[in-house]
Amino acid sequence: MKKLAILGSTGSIGQSTLDIVSLYPDRFNVELLAGAYNISLLARQIREFRPSTAAVMTEQGADQLKSLLKKEVCPEILIGKQGYIDAASNDKADLVVLAMVGSAGLYPALAAIDAEKTIALANKETLVMAGDIVMSRARDKGVRIFPVDSEHSAIFQCLQGSREKDFKKIFLTASGGPFRKKSLSRFDAITPEDALNHPNWTMGSKITIDSATLMNKALEIIEAVHLFNVSHEDIEVIVHPQSIVHSMVGFADGSVIAQLGIPDMKGAISYAISWPERMDIGVEFPDFTTLRNLEFEKCDNKKFPSLDFAFEACRKGGTLPAVMNAANEVAVRAFLDKQIRFKDIFNIISKCMGIHNIIDNPELSGIIEADQWAREKARSFI
Ligand code: MG
Repeated sequence: MKKLAILGSTGSIGQSTLDIVSLYPDRFNVELLAGAYNISLLARQIREFRPSTAAVMTEQGADQLKSLLKKEVCPEILIGKQGYIDAASNDKADLVVLAMVGSAGLYPALAAIDAEKTIALANKETLVMAGDIVMSRARDKGVRIFPVDSEHSAIFQCLQGSREKDFKKIFLTASGGPFRKKSLSRFDAITPEDALNHPNWTMGSKITIDSATLMNKALEIIEAVHLFNVSHEDIEVIVHPQSIVHSMVGFADGSVIAQLGIPDMKGAISYAISWPERMDIGVEFPDFTTLRNLEFEKCDNKKFPSLDFAFEACRKGGTLPAVMNAANEVAVRAFLDKQIRFKDIFNIISKCMGIHNIIDNPELSGIIEADQWAREKARSFI
């Protein structure tokens, strides 16, 4: 029986994780649920899965949760950032699903590693900000980190059974988002509603905007560098609008292994929590006879400079990836709040990266400082 802590249980990945878990009550026990924004959904999840502990971000959220739950089912409630850190290192759980959005995932991730939990990682920002620190601490502690991101799950699956020295390159696929065919001159008219309308995947709002700008792919390049301990030079991004090939790995002999499936996050989530087994979770195969074609094309870097940001961040390293990430978080929020235009997201990231004084081999405190600096700068450009 695996004992689960799910941080971000009310988000898209968290809900899908619970859908899978509910199919296998003999395999999984939910010990902890943490949700920051949707307290009524968190209350429903607690009634169904009966965790012994819950975590919320605010006192207000805790009060709301208590009022929604009868005393008999109300778990111990942890509160705030420290509550999330305690949640990630809670001794009742052995597998921690980190499914929160953005930089908020970093400290809980480190706490889970220090407590020697197995991690299913959906929070890519953690590795983008502090990949060197996170991965070296995980290696020291002998902690395994299983990718939940569909592309990284695909790469992980393609690497099963192969020798490290036979690896040659990663083909990271990208859907291209909803504006792949839109001309650059029409980018100014893009509204948050347009950008939230992703052609293939259903996801939270931050990651959906990141998919429209291709910043999601930028973050995934850096995520892959850390997860698979490879150079950014061995990663090629390929636009694949159908989102059937979730990514590919090329080997020394010219062979390419791809992982395919319909665009449904449940496949990646279930593999991360059940590896090396595969569970029947009711996800259909692609219907190959009606698919007709799988297209692959180059990314238009003039329209979408995001990949250039990522490769620059990888080349220069240090605190620059954290700056890229923080500037993006602030810009995405401002775009969703209709304070800036779509293209301004790129301008703000580019400006912040351009004026940042990079610190090489930063400690965690240096990364957090760079993150805060970039947020302030990004806000000043809005
Ligand atoms: Mg992805």
